[in-house]
Amino acid sequence: MIHPVAVIGAGPYGLSTAAHLRARGIPVRVFGEPMVSWRDHMPEGMLLKSTPAASNIDAPQPGHTLGDYCAAAGIPRLVTDEDIIPVETFIAYGEWFRQKLVPELEQVRVVSVDRGSGPDAAGSGGFDIKLDSGESFTARAVVVATGLSGLAHLPPELAGAAADGPTPSGPVSHSSQHHDLRRFSGKELIVVGAGQSALETAALAAEAGAQVRVVSRGKGAVDFGAPPWDQPKLRPESPFGRAWSLWALSYYPQPYRHLPAEARHYLVRRVLGPLGAWWLRDRFEGKVGVREVERIVSAAATDGQPVLTVRTHGGRVEELTADHVMAATGYRVDIAAMDFLGHELRAGLAASRGTPRLGAGYCSSLPGLYFTGLPAASSYGPVMRFVCGTEFASPRLARHLAAAHG
Ligand SMILES: Cc1cc2nc3c(=O)[nH]c(=O)nc-3n(C[C@H](O)[C@H](O)[C@H](O)COP(=O)(O)OP(=O)(O)OC[C@H]3O[C@@H](n4cnc5c(N)ncnc54)[C@H](O)[C@@H]3O)c2cc1C
Repeated sequence: MIHPVAVIGAGPYGLSTAAHLRARGIPVRVFGEPMVSWRDHMPEGMLLKSTPAASNIDAPQPGHTLGDYCAAAGIPRLVTDEDIIPVETFIAYGEWFRQKLVPELEQVRVVSVDRGSGPDAAGSGGFDIKLDSGESFTARAVVVATGLSGLAHLPPELAGAAADGPTPSGPVSHSSQHHDLRRFSGKELIVVGAGQSALETAALAAEAGAQVRVVSRGKGAVDFGAPPWDQPKLRPESPFGRAWSLWALSYYPQPYRHLPAEARHYLVRRVLGPLGAWWLRDRFEGKVGVREVERIVSAAATDGQPVLTVRTHGGRVEELTADHVMAATGYRVDIAAMDFLGHELRAGLAASRGTPRLGAGYCSSLPGLYFTGLPAASSYGPVMRFVCGTEFASPRLARHLAAAHG
């Protein structure tokens, strides 16, 4: 019997990988809620930071770019670096891509993945997969494309005010738990962080009628990028702006996995690090307060209200209060948090600081188990944190999988 490949995830990476595998004639079953991170875990009214050229979900055949979607949907084409993409348009693009190229998507959760017992077509045991529909089956290979799911990061210093974990109705939440920011209308909100997500969420909440302060670590941490017309002309163009480093990391991620671990982890964190989009500055400045501190010492809740204890740059300790604190503190890859992967699989994976160590073709140390998107960033570089990384990842992963398990 020919077992299918299981692709877990129906965001940009899962859909793109599935399209490439299908184009090679490989039987594939694809699981997940299409574009759910974008629909439920990002704020309504958000605009993408990436430019149209850097927001294509890679397909094996032409005709499936964001521009192609706009033309098909009869909406103004998003083409130049000055065109800004509303999140709703990007979600609709993902849905259109799915209907055209991954029509068989199954909207169920994968509950567990374990090493298989019976021999598969490639002579190994494959993987035993259980779904929340109650079905079980054997897959010859598995592609983990679960993106941001389950990886929201709450810094330990904020955990004191979130004894049962962050929740939107408690004193502290994570930005991924919000979609509609109108709940903060008339309230005082502290947003912790200085990245695009923090700054855009703060601006949107202020526009929804909240009184918002951004609390960030370091001096001058809140900053915005240069508009396209002010980018340095003598440096090469990349999807993220003009710079040699961005150009190399965007178009040549192949050698990245051979760098020393220290350098790989540093670059994933620092390159394309916190910086607001150029178009956000006018919506942010004068509307959102900024409090730069040396560090947040701790957080507590008094009568359900959060109290942040901070250490200022002058060395004083102060308390900041609000109706709610939202941590816009990003996502951290941690294999331990991917609890749908069986214990034996997780324990057997070669890992580096909680992230899977991937070889050629995005294959992990366990033959047949592949990771793409965010969990691949420590092996293939920061471009894997963004949609445009599908252009590099998906064809290579599909080629490797076809050769090893096709
Ligand atoms: C606020 C914010 C703004 C962003 N803006 C941009 C931007 O402008 N441009 C850009 O390029 N990137 C942006 N990103 C990054 C972007 O989210 C990722 O690049 C992209 O979503 C990753 O796609 P993915 O397919 O890997 O995962 P996701 O889009 O997170 O999709 C994960 C999929 O996995 C499925 N899944 C998870 N667990 C299971 C399971 N057990 N069983 C079955 N299915 C499962 C989910 O249902 C979902 O379909 C932004 C991120 C955030 C948080």
